[in-house]
Amino acid sequence: MDKNIKLKYNYHTHCYLCNHAEGYPHDYIERAIKLGFRGIGISDHGPLRPEWTHRMSYDDFINIYLKDIDESINKYSDCIEIYKGLEIEYYEEYTFYYHTLLTKLDYLILGQHALKINGKIVDVFQKMTKEYIYEYANEVVEGLNSKCFKILAHPDLFMYKYDGKWDKDLELASRKIIEAAIKNDVYLELNVNGARRGLIKNFLGEDTWKYPYLDFWKLVTKYKETKVVINADCHKLDYLYDDVTEEVIDFAKKLNLNVIERLEL
Ligand SMILES: [Zn+2]
Ligand SMILES: [Zn+2]
Repeated sequence: MDKNIKLKYNYHTHCYLCNHAEGYPHDYIERAIKLGFRGIGISDHGPLRPEWTHRMSYDDFINIYLKDIDESINKYSDCIEIYKGLEIEYYEEYTFYYHTLLTKLDYLILGQHALKINGKIVDVFQKMTKEYIYEYANEVVEGLNSKCFKILAHPDLFMYKYDGKWDKDLELASRKIIEAAIKNDVYLELNVNGARRGLIKNFLGEDTWKYPYLDFWKLVTKYKETKVVINADCHKLDYLYDDVTEEVIDFAKKLNLNVIERLEL
């Protein structure tokens, strides 16, 4: 049992219901207790568009997901703070639905994995162009302005599939995202799951992950009021906390980012 962890909260935790992660919410909660965490938020991919059948259904959300977390709250609330969340995309037409979800949850994480371009859904993990980056920034800013979200997951996810250079256009798109997060009091997330995907070089020859992307976070340092959260985004129990978590903690320290451990939800 390792009680020397350097980060005692994690708000981004998946489970088997999204079909690409392992374990029940209670498995992560029990692991967090063993590791010496003070708080954990469960935030699997939320049910959204009916055609996204690879995600948990609304019935599973109520009957399995919330039930499991509520049982853990009853059992473990003396040992750890437990929060109920979901990670979900933002599309304006679902605004009412986000408010409905929030009556059952402590928070929503905005994770814009899919863009809506000319009515078609574009997967951010498959393709990214400069035009799509503008669209990503616009959709994220709209989402943040909706006030439905407390955390912006991997704000720099657009760098994952983009093979162009970091330039003024990307900086401008990033500034819009950062400024909207500040304006709406949303935490920007340093995503440890992105750091698991390995290092590359930026155009200056510096080491960076594809996300968290060094140039994006250098820009964040120019906004001292930004609130930053480090999240595991774990899909496996072993990834709740490990060496990669500590690499991201060190990265945040080097840049002197304003990391908040315990969030106001
Ligand atoms: Zn995500
Ligand atoms: Zn996630």
